[in-house]
Amino acid sequence: MHFGFFLNKVRTLFSIPEDQPDLVKAQCVALSNLMPPMYFVLVANSWGLSASFYHTAPRWLTVYFLAALNTICVIRLISWWKQRKAILTPEKAVRRLRQTNKFAAILAVGFSWWALSLYPYGNAYARSLVAFFLAMTVFGAIFCLVHVRSAALLVAGIITTAFIGFFVATGNRVFIAMSINIALVTITFMIVIWIQNHDFKRMILAQSEALALISEQDRLMRMIDDMPVAVMTVDPATFNINYINETSKRTFKQIEDLLPIKSHEVLGSSIDVFHRHPEYQRKILSNPANLPHYARIQLGPEVLDLQISAVRATDGSYIGPMLTWSIVTQQAEAERRIRQLAHYDTLTGLANRTTFREKLEESMKRQGAGTSLLFVDLDGFKLVNDSRGHLVGDALLKQVAGRIRTKCNQNGIVVGRLGGDEFAILMEDATTEQAAALAGSLVEALVAPYNLEGDDRRTLISASIGIALSPKNDEEAETLLAHADIALYAAKASGKGRYRVFSPEMEQRIQDRVRLESKLRTALEEEDGLFVFYQPIVDIRTGRVTAREALIRWHHPERGWVAPVEFIPVAEQSGLIDKLGRLVLRRACCEAVSWSDGARVAVNVSPGQLGRDILQPSILEALALSGLEPDRLEVEVTESALLNDELDCIGDLRSVHELGVHVALDDFGTGFSSLAHIRAFPFDKIKIDGSFVRDAVDRPDCAAVVKVIADLGKRLGVTTVAEGVETEAHLECVIEEGCTEVQGYYFGRPAPSENEASLVRDLV
Ligand code: C2E
Ligand code: MG
Ligand code: MG
Repeated sequence: MHFGFFLNKVRTLFSIPEDQPDLVKAQCVALSNLMPPMYFVLVANSWGLSASFYHTAPRWLTVYFLAALNTICVIRLISWWKQRKAILTPEKAVRRLRQTNKFAAILAVGFSWWALSLYPYGNAYARSLVAFFLAMTVFGAIFCLVHVRSAALLVAGIITTAFIGFFVATGNRVFIAMSINIALVTITFMIVIWIQNHDFKRMILAQSEALALISEQDRLMRMIDDMPVAVMTVDPATFNINYINETSKRTFKQIEDLLPIKSHEVLGSSIDVFHRHPEYQRKILSNPANLPHYARIQLGPEVLDLQISAVRATDGSYIGPMLTWSIVTQQAEAERRIRQLAHYDTLTGLANRTTFREKLEESMKRQGAGTSLLFVDLDGFKLVNDSRGHLVGDALLKQVAGRIRTKCNQNGIVVGRLGGDEFAILMEDATTEQAAALAGSLVEALVAPYNLEGDDRRTLISASIGIALSPKNDEEAETLLAHADIALYAAKASGKGRYRVFSPEMEQRIQDRVRLESKLRTALEEEDGLFVFYQPIVDIRTGRVTAREALIRWHHPERGWVAPVEFIPVAEQSGLIDKLGRLVLRRACCEAVSWSDGARVAVNVSPGQLGRDILQPSILEALALSGLEPDRLEVEVTESALLNDELDCIGDLRSVHELGVHVALDDFGTGFSSLAHIRAFPFDKIKIDGSFVRDAVDRPDCAAVVKVIADLGKRLGVTTVAEGVETEAHLECVIEEGCTEVQGYYFGRPAPSENEASLVRDLV
């Protein structure tokens, strides 16, 4: 075990440090410099020794053998000389050092043997020369092989062993003393070589480490120089720019015109030239605690992004600030666009739903009570959009947004477009009165006619507004939004073009309405609980029933009979009116076929059923199903059906008229009572609203209205029906005013058909 360890140590002494490529290469280089003097000394000394023995020793020893040894030396020298310029790889270096070891051993053995072989042929002086030659050779060789420890050890070991062995064996005291001398000096030399070798190794390693460091620094420098990010560093003491990379230089060139200095002057200049407030910048740069620091700077039309980080030494001390920067003008513009797109409505430029919602939440958090929310919905916008195209629709929305903006141009008011024709307004710190006043002025502003480019038609729309106020601090934005929605619904239900302030009862009403709609839908789907009643219309002169008006009745499963004035608007708003209209037409026509007096059947048609090309097909369907003559059918429309000039309602009426179906104008006198409407379509009948008829007895103005309409009817050759005749007095009055037909409780209340009479009776 111990012996093995020792052997290993010895082997290490003579081995080549293959694992340290830089060291073997350095050893080779150092050796190649000392090789010529070493061989020179060896060759010259050996010939000197040979000369001393030339006459006494045999020739083969003095000349031939030595010549052979010298030849080896010369060959070695030439081979080293030749390779001195070749690129030295670590493998090659190892190979050469191994050869050096081999030749060192061979030559040491060769020269020792040769010199000692001369010994017997010389006198005492010549013999001393042998000893001297060997001593000089060993020291000379050791010195020249100082960088290659293995070779130096081999030479010293071989020659010193041969020397001591040989001269001690002579028994000569002088030679024995010399041997001791040589042994001691060789040991000293060995120690020197050991230390020298160690230092050399350390030096080479330090050198290669330094080289590696330099090349790493160089590599890093190149990387920073070439990286596509503009970098510069600043001396924290002077605030002068002490380094800028290539990208920085190129970037500076791009904005040179905007800077007080030229791009080639940047290096060495003070960083102050880039800042409007240099003191502030210096304060940031001087203290690493402020870093990293990010800034976006506007420089003329360009936007720069600047990131300043602290560069620190390995011990953590602050070396200085490093600035990475770039021109981000396009990116900033794109960001602005994205922000704009994400937060604002592209058409109107108003806050979009998300932004509005955020602002509302912020306001409620900040403000709590006192936040008012107005929901604006345009009445009739869908019609414009559907009938005149989206471009016109968009132009209209822009104008609407403009008008809202003008009215809301105050601090603390935010306007948003929630989508479609829905706008919202947020008022901070507003009373109910202030919110209502704004809503009132908006309703007024939005109803004024719009002039849309490329379309010479006058566009009339109105706006309904729902207002909700946050009375409590803990109110949720969600609740406020829901309340504004309910108030809007109420505003629309109350006749459009109005505003309503939310009240808890509204919520209840809406819920009731929603429930009613759902029940009505079921009733229509199952055709359950829906009945058509008929009320006679009588000719004043003959007393004959000329027609019967079909009036829908609904028996609600829980509430009992529900009046049409309550559920017809629900049907109109929910789109159920088409189905309801078809049901009444079908049933009325089927019923009228069985009437023996040949009276007509009058069916009410809602404005929502007009202008959509659905009326004529459903009439044709009902007529075909029942077999009723078209002449025996009459449709009643109110004036509001004619108001909508966007849709071709009159066209619809015309096509019905062409079938031979009569068309009556219902409830005339209420609403617009425009004579222009009477002229717009050749009505067969005008029905004067019951309210005038009933009041005509006591109020001369109402009587006058009845008279005017009756006269007009006469002049136009149109039948005039007085509705709501309940008493004899009413009848006398309308006869006097000149009406031709009457309808009212006086002649008969609306009643079910004979078939359904018993069914209805059971329900009452
Ligand atoms: P309208 O078309 O003007 O119908 C006449 C209304 O006056 C009916 O009310 C009728 O019952 C009522 N009436 C008739 N004579 C008198 C009277 O002497 N005194 C009083 N106070 N009222 C009288 P009803 O049936 O409640 O219908 C109300 C409205 O509902 C109708 O007014 C009509 O606009 C609408 N309506 C009814 N049925 C239908 C329908 O099937 N389709 C559509 N679209 N609307 C309908
Ligand atoms: Mg009617
Ligand atoms: Mg009527």
